[in-house]
Formats: sequence, C-alpha cells, structure tokens
Amino acid sequence: MRRRIAWLAACLVALGVVGCAPSPSLPADAVQLMMKLNAAVSGRDEAVFTSLTNGEASSGIRAWVWANLGMLGQVTFKSGESDSLWANWQLTDDSLPISNQVGSISCADNGCHVADLGPQSGAPAPIWLVQPLQVLGGDSATVLASPGTSSGDAWVSAAQAAQQAVAGADLGDLGASWDGTLTVELPKDASAFAQLLGLASSADYTSTGAVTRIEGSPDSSLGPAAYIIVNPQTTAMLTPDEQTLLITHEGVHVATADTPVASGAAWVSEGLAESVAVAGSPSTAADEQTLAKASCNGGLTPPSDAAFGGTDVAGQNAAYAVSQVLVGLIRAHLGAEAMPAISQLWQGEAAPQVDLVAWSQAWCSN
Ligand SMILES: [Zn+2]
Repeated sequence: MRRRIAWLAACLVALGVVGCAPSPSLPADAVQLMMKLNAAVSGRDEAVFTSLTNGEASSGIRAWVWANLGMLGQVTFKSGESDSLWANWQLTDDSLPISNQVGSISCADNGCHVADLGPQSGAPAPIWLVQPLQVLGGDSATVLASPGTSSGDAWVSAAQAAQQAVAGADLGDLGASWDGTLTVELPKDASAFAQLLGLASSADYTSTGAVTRIEGSPDSSLGPAAYIIVNPQTTAMLTPDEQTLLITHEGVHVATADTPVASGAAWVSEGLAESVAVAGSPSTAADEQTLAKASCNGGLTPPSDAAFGGTDVAGQNAAYAVSQVLVGLIRAHLGAEAMPAISQLWQGEAAPQVDLVAWSQAWCSN
C-alpha cells in the first residue's frame, strides 16, 4: 500500500515534465495515426513525426525524408488496403496531385505506427522518398536533384529552353490542358532511377535518355500529373544542346499527357515529340533525315509500338527518325490542318486527309 502511494506521488510530480506513460502513447487506430501524422507534417513537428515513424525499416532515411517533406507544396498521408501507407502530394500548391504507395503501417495492442517509410518494390516511388533533395529552377521549369549535383544548373537551363520550345510549338488540342510547367527529376544513380519507375532494375533502360511518367490524379476531376525522369546511366556526357533536345522531346509528352496514345500510334506521339525537339537542332534534324532515308522501301512504314522499346539502339534511332519525318510530312502537306489530323491518328481514328504512302514515296524518291 505504501509503495503504491509512493509510486503514484512520484508519477504525479513527474507528470508535468514528461508524463507517466513509459513511452509516448501511439494512436489507437489507423485513422488517428493518419490525423496525427498529417498534423505533424503540416505543423513541421519533427519530434511527433519521428515518434510515429519509428519502424526500423525507415530509420536510416527518416531525417532527410523529413527535410524533403518540408519542400513540398502539399502532402497528405493515407492508409490503404493491407496496412499500406500512401501519400498524395504536390510539388507546389499549383501542381497536379500525385498518389504514391510509400510504406506500411502496423497496429498492435499499444497502438499504431508507421512500420515502413521508403520505396516499395513494384511501386513507383516519389523522388522525395528516394534521395535527399534540392529544388532548382523556377515555377515553369523545375529540377529536383540531390544537393550539390554538379550538372544541376545545366539541367535547369535545358529545362527552361525546353519549356519555351514546347510552349512555342503548335500542339493543337493535344496541348490544350498543359499548365505550361515542366518538372525534371535527376535520380542520383541507376538504383534511384529504377525506384522512381517502380522497377527492381534499370537494365532495360540502357538506351533510354529520359522517361516521362504520367500519373493518374488521386482526384478524378483533375488531369494526370506528368514529369520527366532523367536516366543517370545514359546522360552524364550530354552537351547542353543534347540536354535541351532530350528535355524538349519529353516536354512534348508532358504537354500532351492528357490524351492517351492509341495502341499502334506510338509513332505519332514519338514523331510529334521528336519533330518539336529537332526544330531547335538543325544538325539533328539533318541526321534523322539521313537515317530515315536509309529506311525507305518505296515509302516509309510507320514503326510499330515495340520499335520504341527494348535496347536495340540502332532500331530505336531509326524508329524515331522515321516517325519524325512522317509527322513532318503531315505538317508540310496539311499546314494549319495538320494538328487535327495528328490528333485523330494519335487516338486511333481514321484520318483520310493524310496520305502517308504517297507522301513518303515522294519523299523517298527525292
Ligand atoms: Zn518519346
């Protein structure tokens, strides 16, 4: 009895300082966990964030993930099926939201906590969960890179030039819903690049300069969010002009992300992107004309969707060159009416005003 009283008294005295519980109490269920976690993130309370994300799996990256979260315009965590943890996030308040699976939660008798916060196998990871970040550039052309990335400024210049090239191109209805911004992610190494794509390895991307990821919005009333991921394995030696060419090509994919490309119409999308890109690089345009000429067989056949994938570099280069020439022929022959025709072909519709057979035969015989 005395001992109990003594213990109680000791506890009451201590209460004002640290409380009586042996450790901070965890939220009782997933709903309360999400409320506390989101309040900690929006209120920038790192101590609470740390107490709620105390899983061993996330301990090594928690400090820089916390710093990265402070750079985002918005982020809201949500629990999903099978104890999965999701984040709906926006780079800026004006960006379109993206939803990613970012970990898992665990509930036991003593409450719920985030058991894992990090890239999930088989799911694309947000870059803020993959590496420490620095936000470079401005509103219309933003580059996300590791702090101290030596090529960061060069990619900002390339992204700015690409943004202007895409904004100045006539993309017709295909570009109508673009907000005019480009976001470029620079993963720090091949493993980070694979994690951003949700892949175990980036071995299939040894001939890919960059990828445009299109993420459906968690809000069905909004369009998809699209962003560019540069492949660190293939881009270290690019000149500034080559960087601009690459980002301009991907920038067209970003600007046209709202309209799905029909099966079999990859050449239309790739040809349009490449034609906008080479418009700023006469020497590349000339090289591609030469490459396409080598593919002439009476005329030019639109490449199959598969021709743009895989690791056959020569085959891919020919596919891009032929597609660029074919889209260029449509533009040259139809002028102001070219974009509606390109849009029809893009969506798998017939475009009887386009006569690629005759036009490419004439081009090949020149
Ligand atoms: Zn492309």
